[in-house]
Amino acid sequence: MDISALLREKLPRLSLEENFSFAAHTTIGCGGRARVAAYPASEEETAALLALLSREKIPHVLLGLGANVLASDGVFEGAVVRLNKLNRLSAGDGLLYAGAGVTGAALVAFACEKCAGGFEQFTGIPMSVGGATAMNAGVREGHISDVALCVRAIANGKVRVFSGGACGFSEKDSIFLQGIAVTGVYFRAEKQDPHLIEKRMREFAARRRLLPKGRSLGCTFVNPAGRSAGAIIDACGLKGCRVGGAHVSEEHANFIINEGGSAEDVGALAALVKEEVLKRTGICLREEIRRIEF
Ligand SMILES: Cc1cc2nc3c(=O)[nH]c(=O)nc-3n(C[C@H](O)[C@H](O)[C@H](O)COP(=O)(O)OP(=O)(O)OC[C@H]3O[C@@H](n4cnc5c(N)ncnc54)[C@H](O)[C@@H]3O)c2cc1C
Repeated sequence: MDISALLREKLPRLSLEENFSFAAHTTIGCGGRARVAAYPASEEETAALLALLSREKIPHVLLGLGANVLASDGVFEGAVVRLNKLNRLSAGDGLLYAGAGVTGAALVAFACEKCAGGFEQFTGIPMSVGGATAMNAGVREGHISDVALCVRAIANGKVRVFSGGACGFSEKDSIFLQGIAVTGVYFRAEKQDPHLIEKRMREFAARRRLLPKGRSLGCTFVNPAGRSAGAIIDACGLKGCRVGGAHVSEEHANFIINEGGSAEDVGALAALVKEEVLKRTGICLREEIRRIEF
């Protein structure tokens, strides 16, 4: 089936990008291509697109900034749905609204401009609001679940509003990873002194500068309860372990750095680390990275 032709016929105003490269649109910089990527311009167009793709049984995946996604090396015979155009930001009545396509940097800057505290911990996290909500992104000082009041999303082709408690937020997880597309989020905005906000932003930015350089997906594995996955991997002597162009960072053992390797290299190295850790410690690490396999 010619997916682009079908989309053009049924949704003539929809923006499309043919032969979409995962390597160019993910922070790890590897992976193959998708037949097409679609960029709906509104929540209605997103709902119509997702309903059409489901009805026609066309495989599809949501992709934000691609900071947590490892896509296979081949060709994805389906559509990538990107909500970059849903990038509205607004503030009022103790709330801050951000569309799914708003980047973390834009969210943090906007919150600061509006004297809204509680967002500083997202400074420097590569993320879109949609992807971050699906992943419940954050650091120990706070996650999306701590500030999200409710989430607008498309489930079964219809717009729905999920209260924070109905989002199933847990460690790097939410119901939105089960095929429910986040279109926007209402956050609680706590009035704060902008100088204090800026100071905290600088502190978080300074911490970020200590993270390993190079192409990665951030942490590969979720920290097991009360423990550091990086410390466990390090204790197993796996720093520097390599498969093709991918290696375990010498600075932070939970980071896999890609230097011109393939998705197969990165995926195989993650699998090897998991297997070795299980063999040596009995701990079964859970992957934080999201694989798009085809
Ligand atoms: C250097 C580096 C540092 C990082 N540091 C941190 C950190 O400190 N804390 C942290 O939590 N994470 C961190 N990460 C991981 C990553 O930044 C987060 O997981 C972030 O939330 C990913 O957002 P994204 O927009 O890139 O999502 P993507 O990677 O594009 O997608 C992630 C998942 O969400 C799904 N998705 C995307 N958009 C939507 C949507 N609109 N609706 C529903 N599902 C959607 C995708 O299908 C995929 O399953 C880091 C990554 C890197 C590369």
